[in-house]
Amino acid sequence: MNNIIFFGPPGAGKGTQAKIISKILDIPHLSTGEILRKKTNQKDALALELNEIMNKGQLVSDNILNKIISERLVECETGFILDGYPRTLDQLNFLNNFLGQNSLKINFIFNIMIDFIKIEERIIKRSSEEKRGDDNIETIKTRYTAYIDSTHLVSENYRKNSKEIFFEIDGNNEIAEITSKIKKILKI
Ligand code: AMP
Repeated sequence: MNNIIFFGPPGAGKGTQAKIISKILDIPHLSTGEILRKKTNQKDALALELNEIMNKGQLVSDNILNKIISERLVECETGFILDGYPRTLDQLNFLNNFLGQNSLKINFIFNIMIDFIKIEERIIKRSSEEKRGDDNIETIKTRYTAYIDSTHLVSENYRKNSKEIFFEIDGNNEIAEITSKIKKILKI
């Protein structure tokens, strides 16, 4: 069973790679960003709250994320790809407890690294293609800070404690080149 996590700053291309690999392995791609964006379309009180937080580039509360992920993970019988979670140490602890209780473990972690200048270029390009409320230069700085202050600590934790399943990937390369490196590691 393949249980995979993708890490990387906003714009690193982790969503793109997670989507490609989930199709090849035929396992669910759990993008918390996408799940939350769908929730913002529901136009209820939660949607308004989420919209405001996400448009500022801030992190949504751990309680909301932990609930979303645990509800989805119980349905993943053949494996899963986590894209955008865990993003805080609280989420990491929650995930570790959840996996332990369900006799599951993570098999591969891909940490996609990219230069900040490239992040800006990609986010500007994506903003015209996908019309995301959080893809603009002001918000990207907050999102990048959230990544450095919080998510980076989570990936560093895995780097230190799960060396044998932690793989560094250069996200400055072309999409196909990155996919082929990941496929080689996964032996697919
Ligand atoms: P993404 O599509 O992964 O860049 O996520 C878009 C936005 O959704 C983020 O900037 C956060 O506001 C929110 N979000 C996604 N995943 C999480 C998470 N694990 N914890 C907190 N907020 C999240």
